[in-house]
Order: sequence, then structure tokens, then C-alpha cells
Amino acid sequence: MKWMEKKLESIFQTLHTDKEKGLTKQQAEDALQQAGPNEFEEEKKETLGDKLLHQLKDVTTIILIVAAAISTYLAITKGHDFAEPIVIIAIVVINAVLGIRQERSAEKALDALKNMNTQLAMVIRDGVIQPINAKELVPGDIIVIEAGDMIPADARLIESTGLLVEESALTGESLPSEKDEHAQVSDSDPLGDRLNMLFSGCLVTNGRGKAVVVETGMNTEMGKIAGLLNSTKKTKTPLQKRLHELGKKLSIIAIASGLVVFLIGLYHGETAMEMLMTAVSLAVAAVPETLPVIVTITLAFGVQNMVKKNAIIRRIPAVEALGSASVICSDKTGTLTQNRMSIQQLWAVEHDPVEATAAFTDAENELLTMLSLANNASIETNDGEERIIGDPTESAIIRLLQDKHMKRSDLEVMYPRVFEIPFDSDRKLMTTVHRTENGFISITKGAFDRIPIDQDSDYSTKYADKAKRIHDQFAEKALRVIAVASKFYKELPETLDADELEHGLTFAGLIGMIDPPRPESKEAVRLAKEAGIKTVMITGDHIVTASAIAREIGILTDGDRSITGAQLEKMSEAELVQSVQDIAVYARVSPEDKIRIVKAWQANGAVVAMTGDGVNDAPALKAADVGAAMGITGTDVAKNAADMVLTDDNFATIVDSVGEGRRVYENIRKTIYFLLSCNISEIFIMIIAILLGWGAPVIAIQLLLINVVADGIPGFCLSKEDMEEDTMQRKPIGKNEGIFANGLGKKIGIQATVFTIITLIGYYVGNFVTISDTVAPSYEVGQTMAFVILGWSSVVHIFNVRSNMKSIFTIGFYSNKPLFWCSMLSIGIILAVSVVPVLADIFQLVSLSGAHWALIIVLSIIPLIVVELIKLVGRSRRRA
Ligand code: ATP
Repeated sequence: MKWMEKKLESIFQTLHTDKEKGLTKQQAEDALQQAGPNEFEEEKKETLGDKLLHQLKDVTTIILIVAAAISTYLAITKGHDFAEPIVIIAIVVINAVLGIRQERSAEKALDALKNMNTQLAMVIRDGVIQPINAKELVPGDIIVIEAGDMIPADARLIESTGLLVEESALTGESLPSEKDEHAQVSDSDPLGDRLNMLFSGCLVTNGRGKAVVVETGMNTEMGKIAGLLNSTKKTKTPLQKRLHELGKKLSIIAIASGLVVFLIGLYHGETAMEMLMTAVSLAVAAVPETLPVIVTITLAFGVQNMVKKNAIIRRIPAVEALGSASVICSDKTGTLTQNRMSIQQLWAVEHDPVEATAAFTDAENELLTMLSLANNASIETNDGEERIIGDPTESAIIRLLQDKHMKRSDLEVMYPRVFEIPFDSDRKLMTTVHRTENGFISITKGAFDRIPIDQDSDYSTKYADKAKRIHDQFAEKALRVIAVASKFYKELPETLDADELEHGLTFAGLIGMIDPPRPESKEAVRLAKEAGIKTVMITGDHIVTASAIAREIGILTDGDRSITGAQLEKMSEAELVQSVQDIAVYARVSPEDKIRIVKAWQANGAVVAMTGDGVNDAPALKAADVGAAMGITGTDVAKNAADMVLTDDNFATIVDSVGEGRRVYENIRKTIYFLLSCNISEIFIMIIAILLGWGAPVIAIQLLLINVVADGIPGFCLSKEDMEEDTMQRKPIGKNEGIFANGLGKKIGIQATVFTIITLIGYYVGNFVTISDTVAPSYEVGQTMAFVILGWSSVVHIFNVRSNMKSIFTIGFYSNKPLFWCSMLSIGIILAVSVVPVLADIFQLVSLSGAHWALIIVLSIIPLIVVELIKLVGRSRRRA
């Protein structure tokens, strides 16, 4: 018989478990040995062979192979050297190895992320409820689930209250299914109709329940289709997409230039095959082959850095979006504040407010008892250590109860709970019903302005004004206020629901609890402001409490407004779009309102980061440009919908991540600046020289060596370049800002021109001017000069791109050590190729005189001097 058909008792028996106490630690360990971890087998990874094939399919590689073929043909038919085709193939290999190696390290960084998203499951073992890693779940474990959880394994339901589960991942049905432990189900029923079962990977959207795990890992329904789920599909970021487009355009330009060079060469009487080689190599050289890999590695490195800053990126495009975030909408509780609530003041109706530390009278004790009954937090002892488990608001109540030497478990015995309507952020209320000596009491606790008090009773009206006054007094001190009210029944009403229980209550009193701001919040808000980012607080708390804290942290300043959810509701979309920029605090809002706030900001062109933790936050997290879920308090539902997870739930982490996002974007732009300046100059150099009838200044293999060695190797080190000092003082990057915005295109143009001029000067002097007694001018001398100048100057150029404004002499050549040493290596390789006879022969280079070398050195540092001068002018302009 299948699990859904069996009687619960027989399942407990089969799995040797106990409904109340669960498995013992030993049983669980043994079962884990037997059943294996509760996880899906990994998808098959791309093998080295696959990767190689991938690289070989690249257009530039294909062109290179064609070039190698032509060159081999020339070697055979025209008696040319075989060195050339060998070098080309060697470069294809080096390029592929570099590519694969870098791709691997990027993959590793991203793989590590997967292991960080550990899912926790609440399980009862040895009679103690405890969180464990969901991977350690075994059949027979008793699990407790509640709204927001992802179901950790297939389980048979034991008990439930209002349990709704969204099973679209399994059944395709997006409406949640209403679970029922009493449902009669047979094996022939489709998954969606098996109401007494819970399925791994599905999301609890409402209620709570207890269940016994029956299948884990690959044996679960989700496990059976895990092979079909391709969860880790590689997605390109918007910038990567744009760069891909740019790459295509550059290829067209390169091929067109190759064609032009080919035709002009023919016109000048060069041989067709020679010119074809030059044209092909130009076509290859003008494309920045290493750019896509450098971009990937820069993103991966950024993602790795963010982990160190407590942010786990779930979708790579979020790194870029973070870099351009202009608004951060943040929850208050736990994100801007510490979520460590402690009750400060109590007011039992008919008495005066008292400090929580004061000696309590019966009235206060009664209020505390009521608050503790309508409460789900509990004290658990695990390995001799006492811990309060539950929501911080409720935990604060239980802590005070403990301070007053009372226990919730004792109260539960005296007043057994017979019914509960759980707390929910929309209603902001929670109600429980308890049996008493002479009937039943229904206790409702929640937001003061949501507690439905019996308006007709004298009692309530008598205290209404005073209650409001005391509430405001508490709230102005930044205290979160919880109100309590109750209702007595002789007999239990027939229908137990909010309509019945949460009406006409008798008000009992208020408590005010403090939740201090996180120490980092104020500074983070200031940093965000400096970076042109507006911080907005969104909270379920009362407007007075929220505003007091917002003011303290610096979110609410002169000219900013605070509004309530009720006011927000009255605003039309157009009104909201118009005024959204002035509103800094939204109080008493429901998670559903967040989506309107996101959309209104987006309508103003903003890039919005939004935090969330609850089930109902998921739509807003998806709508935001960067959805950030809380790692500690966040539900699995929210994490699933988010682009990033804050492992410390901290607002400051978002601001840090924005910095990292900007650093990544900046380094990608620097890489583009570095690579394209050189690539474009190569096109200019070839076309101009051939137009002037000077012949090709650099030949195929020389161009390739420069691209792969002089540009490729140091280029990778740009991904690790530190953030510039003023990165977080600049305005956010515009949403539709092109790659070449902010003068990048102009800078590339200037640099390419400088490279072209110095290389052509070197080539001309070497080719036509006598500057030494020992080495006479010749085509080969000119080529050697052009090769070394182009190679060296483009390596030197990397020190230019390291900062937009700062002089490299201020930053220090050695401050990015890998970059410095890679540059030295590149300079060394170019030198070696030109002076070591065997290599020089292969690359068709000749030896030069001291005067030639002196000229090369002078010309090669000209780009540095030019950029230093431009930066100097820029700095003095900025100062002025
Ligand atoms: P934020 O949105 O800043 O994270 P929050 O999520 O804590 O705040 P809600 O959970 O919506 O906001 O709480 C709003 C109000 O509901 C509180 O001001 C409080 O009055 C009341 N409240 C919060 N928790 C409980 C609870 N467990 N039981 C009853 N009332 C509660």
C-alpha cells in the first residue's frame, strides 16, 4: 500500500517513529546512513571535452584555424616557414586554455554559492523541536511546517491548520492546494489531489502543520523529475548581452577592415595570399577575444566578494542591477533594527503605565498572561542550553514572562488552547481561544489600531482617549506597541473564525517594546545618500513608531513625508508616481502595497532594490530590480523569489553590495577601455599604413601575440581592481546608460589615436629613417619597432585605465600586485620574442640598435603621459 493510502498509525509503525517525540538521534543517524542525504543528484557537469568543443566553435577560433590552414598552404606551396602555422595553432591553444581555466574558476565561485543556500527544516527529534539542515532529514522524521516554508521532503500530513501549499513546480497548478490530513486518497489520484500528502520543493503559503517524512532525496516526487528541472540555466546579464552585440558589431567592422586592407594591398601589388593572411589576422586581432571571459570572471569575482560581505547572489544579473540601484526600499524590523525586542512598558487598563522592570500587580500579571497565551514562542532546552524559539515580538513576551517567574507551558495547562487564528502581517492580529474554569476566553493581540474593540460598551469608550494617548506616548519613544483584548464565551460558538472572534472585544491594555536600530544602519543610510541612493522604510509598524526610528537613523529628514498604508490606498497610481520621491516612510502597510511602491519608483526611472521576508513579499521581490530576501528570518518563499539573500538580514549589507556592484561595473568598463583602445588602433594602423603604401606594419602572428599576451594576460587582473575612492560618491549608473557613456567612447578614441600615431612613427622611422650606424632602415626593422611599440604601449596602458581620475603615481604601480606582475610578464615576453634569436626568427623580427630601443621606450610611454595629462586637467577642472 502506498503512503497516501495507509493509516497514520501504520506509517509510524513502519518507520519506527513516534508522533509526538519523533525519531531518536541514534535512529536518525542510522536512517541517514541507510537512506543517504535528502538531496537531489547533481546535474551532469560540462566535461573538459565539452568545454574544449565549446571554445573551438567560437568564430574567432574558427577564423584562426582558417588562418593556420592558409599559412600551412603557403608554407607548402611557397616554401614559407612552418613556424607561422605552428604559432597560430599554439595561440589557439593558449587562448582556449586561458578561456577554459578562467571559466572554471568563475564556475567554481558560482558553484560555491549553491552550497550556501542551505535549507533548514524544523524537526522533532527526541521530543525536542529543533532546526536541522534539510539534507539530514530521514523517513520517519516528524516535521513542523508553517507559512513561508519550502517543504523539505515528501511527507504524510498528521495535523494542520489552514494549510495551503503551492505545488506549481510539480503539478503546474499555480493556485495553492488546501491540505487536509483526513482526506481519503488513493494511488490513482493525480499528485495535485493527494491532499493528505506534502511534496518536497513545494511552498507553504498559509497556515501550519505537522507531518511525518516518508520519502527523501531522489525518491521524492520532485526527485523523480529532478533530471528534468534545469534550475541552473546560465543567463547572460544585460551588460553581457550588450557586449555580445558589441562583439558582433566589432566583428563586422573587423571583417570589413580586413577586406579593405586586402583590396588596397592587392592594388599596391602585394600577393593575394600574403594579403589574405594579413586581412584574416587583422579580422581576428581587431576582435577583443578575451573580453567575454574577463567580463564573466569579473562578475564571478564580484559574486564571491559579495559572499564575504554577507550577500548571496542568486541571479547573476543582480550584480549589475545592484551597481545601478538608485532606491533601496527596506523593511524596518530586523533589517534596519536589530529584531531584538524587549518590553519596556506595560499598561493594564484602569491602571497607570509601568516599567517592565517594576514589580507587577495582578492587573499587569493578567495582561502578561493573556499575551503569553496568544503566543507561539517557546523556550526549548537543547544540550542544556535554553533558547527561545519563535517570532521576536512573541519571544519578548515570553522572556518577560520568564523574568516574572512564570512559564507558558504552565499557563497552557491551566488554559488549554482550543483554537487559533495565526498572526498575519495583513491583519496584524492574532487570536487564540482557551478553555477556562467557567467557559472559554478568546484573546486577540495585535496592532492597536486594528484591535476591534466593542465601540458600544461604556468601558471601551471610557478608556479610548487614554489608550490613544498612551499608545502615542509609547510610539513616540520608538516603541512597537501591541494591544490586547478579549472576549468571553460560556459555550464555544458554532463557527470559529475571524468574523466571530475578532469583533466587539474588551480592551485589556498595551505593551511597548523597543527594537533598537542596528548600529550600522545610520552610517549605511548616510553612505547610500552620498552615493545618490534614496533609502525608503517600509514597515508594518505604526506611523509614529516608524517615523521616530526613521528620524533616528537618518531616513526621515526635512522635506520627507511619512504615510500610512491607508493613505497609500487612497492614492491613485498617477498620484503615487508623482509623490513617491518625497515619501521616506510607509507605515502600517501590507506586503501587497510594496509592489505599488516598486512600480511607482520604476515609473520614475529608478532602479529599485527591495527587501522582503514573508510569503506575501514574493511578488514585490520579483518586481523589484533587485529583490533581497532575509537569510535568517526570511521564508523559503521569499528566498526563492529573490535575486539575492542577505545572510545577516542587515540593511548595511545591501549598501555594501551596491558598492561591490559598482566596482564590478567599473572594472568591466575599464577592461573595455583597455582592450578596445588597442584593438581599434590595430585597425587604424593597418589601414593607414597600407593606404600610404608602406606595407603591413605588423603581420598576423605578431598581432595575435599582442592580443593574447600583451592584452589578454594583464586584462584578467583588472577584475580584481579595488573600488575607487569616489565610487560611492558618484550618482548611480543610469538604467539605460550605454557601455560607452560618460566619455568612455571618447577616451577609447583618444587612446586608439595615440597608439596609432606612436606605432606608425616607430614603423616609419624603422622603415625609412637612418638613426643608427649599425642597423640600417628596412621593412623588417620597421615591423619590429611597430610590434614592440604596440605591444609595450598597450601593456603600459593598463596602468592608465586603473583609475578614471587618479594618477597612477598616486595609486602606485604595485598596488594591484597580480596586475603588476602580469604586465611585467607581458613586457618580458614581447622583449624575449624580439631579442632571442630563435623566437625572433619565428615571429619574423630583427635585432635593433640602442637608438631604436631608446625610441621605442620613449614612444611606448607616451600613452601614459597623455592620459596623465588628461587626468590632471580633469582633476583641476573638478576642483575648480
Ligand atoms: P517590518 O515590516 O518593518 O519588518 P513587521 O514585519 O514586524 O515590520 P508586521 O509583522 O506587519 O511588521 O507587524 C505590524 C504590527 O503588527 C506591529 O506593529 C504589531 O503591532 C503587530 N504585531 C507584530 N507581531 C505580532 C504578533 N506576533 N502578534 C500580534 N501582533 C503582532
